[in-house]
Amino acid sequence: MSPTLTDAAPSRGDAADGLSILESRKSAAETFGIPLAVLAELTHRCPLQCPYCSNPVELERGGSELTTDEWKKVLTELAEIGVLQIHFSGGEPTARKDIVELVQHASDVGLYTNLITSAVLLTRDKLKALADAGLCHVQISFQGNEPVVADRVAGLKNAHEKKLEVARWTRELDLPLTVNAVMHRQNLHQLADIIQMAVDLDADRLEVANVQYYGWALKNRAALMPTLQQIEETSRIVEEAEVRLKGILAIDYVVPDYYALRPKKCMGGWGRQFFNISPAGKILPCHAAETITGLDFLSVRSNHSIAWIWQNSEAFNRYRGTGWMPEPCQSCEFKEIDFGGCRCQAFALTGDAGNTDPACALSPMHEQIFKTAETEASHGGDRFIYRNFAGGTVETGGEYGS
Ligand code: SF4
Ligand code: SF4
Repeated sequence: MSPTLTDAAPSRGDAADGLSILESRKSAAETFGIPLAVLAELTHRCPLQCPYCSNPVELERGGSELTTDEWKKVLTELAEIGVLQIHFSGGEPTARKDIVELVQHASDVGLYTNLITSAVLLTRDKLKALADAGLCHVQISFQGNEPVVADRVAGLKNAHEKKLEVARWTRELDLPLTVNAVMHRQNLHQLADIIQMAVDLDADRLEVANVQYYGWALKNRAALMPTLQQIEETSRIVEEAEVRLKGILAIDYVVPDYYALRPKKCMGGWGRQFFNISPAGKILPCHAAETITGLDFLSVRSNHSIAWIWQNSEAFNRYRGTGWMPEPCQSCEFKEIDFGGCRCQAFALTGDAGNTDPACALSPMHEQIFKTAETEASHGGDRFIYRNFAGGTVETGGEYGS
């Protein structure tokens, strides 16, 4: 699932549930410096074909996925080293037949569980079974606020209506709900209506995530890149809604960094606050990290523990901290604030993950990239390359309209 991940603590929860209890066990995680929340990408299989999908362009086939027992072992190990929250994601995590069993196991070992889902494979019975197994939170992605735009972006007919239905079931089952909306040039005009949709669905939280351009999104950059005017309008709408909906809907806003002067602190800094586990069990500093060639990411199937991989593996240490940084980062006052930006973006745009993220205005490549973004936003075609196992399929037009 794409593409943001925030702490999914329920805002309605009382002191007797959710994280408030788990946080009392923080000490083990602090010993290892282990992140409190981990993203488990159970599979890359997904019925949707979003053109900005954060999964790698080379998708992992079902045959290489960790087995049920392997995932259970991973979940137990995560709990033992102090992880508190597990985000089940993908691909579409409910494409795994064992999803209820995995949620049950995570719950049994004391993990707070969040399901990050496109929702289209869920039935009410399945959702109820997940709730009964201890699921704590549901995050549903939306591609727009109505079917014409949303189904076309998702590459699946009737997806939007199904998502609305599952969102209502989620609240009927008293599960906290986050709406995740990935925004780009072809749906930003719907932002105000998406915010209202989240309120109407009784969501606790809305993630307004501008597309991050690597992997599938980089392939689709010309069709997705917003204009500067759209970005300015987005910020205005979000700021107004944050004030108006205070106490009703929490809004997380991820700004697009092509139009920024400084890059985002990607994943809180490489190997500092986050790791995810790929369908085949690789431990990664971010979900796009496998796009960087030349790094050897170790797997839970290796002879090393997860804590060892996090602390000692070469791939995690390569860009950890500030010692690896080139100029202009090395002598920059912001180096411990943004940690040089995004390594995946630096690799995608400059061919070297060890360069300053070109989103930074101090990067020698920034101006050229900003100009390209502006040109693509105004002259780029609208057709998508849909995400699939065949390496992508170009939209022919009208195939997913409702
Ligand atoms: S195709 Fe869409 S729904 Fe499926 S994993 Fe990618 S972003 Fe998520
Ligand atoms: S030069 Fe490096 S550390 Fe300084 S703002 Fe740019 S990316 Fe951040």
